[in-house]
Amino acid sequence: MKRILLCVVVFLCSFQLFSQDNQINVIVIGAHPDDCDGDAGGTAIKYSQMGHNVLFVSLTNGDAGHFEKGGGALAKIRRAEAQEAGRRFGVKYIVLDNHDGELMPDLSVRMEVIRLIRQWKADVVIGPRTNDYHPDHRNTAILIQDAAYMVIVPNVAPDTPPLKRNPVFLYTQDSFQKPIPFRHDITVDISDVFDQKIYGMAAHESQFFEWLPWTSGRLDQVPESDEERLEWLANLRKPEISSAMRTSLTKWYGAEKANQAKYAESFEICEYGNQPSDEEIKRLFPMLGK
Ligand SMILES: [Zn+2]
Repeated sequence: MKRILLCVVVFLCSFQLFSQDNQINVIVIGAHPDDCDGDAGGTAIKYSQMGHNVLFVSLTNGDAGHFEKGGGALAKIRRAEAQEAGRRFGVKYIVLDNHDGELMPDLSVRMEVIRLIRQWKADVVIGPRTNDYHPDHRNTAILIQDAAYMVIVPNVAPDTPPLKRNPVFLYTQDSFQKPIPFRHDITVDISDVFDQKIYGMAAHESQFFEWLPWTSGRLDQVPESDEERLEWLANLRKPEISSAMRTSLTKWYGAEKANQAKYAESFEICEYGNQPSDEEIKRLFPMLGK
């Protein structure tokens, strides 16, 4: 009997190890609580549905993102919104306590980023490019790039074990053209989870239904009911699939599926970190082709 029990325990342990080895750990890093959601929310839902692990990180607490509220009170609201968004996306959501609008690519934040990437045992790290319009976004990009090599260096942040293998670092899509336009290396078809992505984003009520409409002079157009708000947000956030996106979708999904895709998210491979082959990309993005 004891021997049978031991066999069962060994089997369960080996299954656990096997399943952990096959799980992909993804960390998406943004400047504000809502950045990760819009940039990679659909892809995150796909990972989550397939049993992989996604962490959203906001490097600032978002305490400047409103026209009436601010400071600690706003940070508290935005942290709660991020927690609800995390629940809707099926990801863990962490909000760091750096001030919004004041993020600097300094050593202390770089160490925080290095530790988070290591603790999550990240296979993939996703963040903005360095030519974004918002200083917090630009500095987030610099912080991620500055961590890209250091995550494998044992003597940097020695209190947190280094990664044995450098992750793949990816940029999220933007429309900035200078000094160089975004390149669609990997494009994920998110058509079947687009509504869930919008529902996840809608958890950031203070942003999508208050602050952002205020900045664009549309506050009076925000509908009252939850249902109408979701439809309104979906209409505002319907991304067009450009020819470059369609070409990338065709590479990863084949022409037939690519032509059917309505919504997608693209990523560009950073020159730092692990440089994946197409086979490696298919392993790290198991939703491609499906
Ligand atoms: Zn932002």
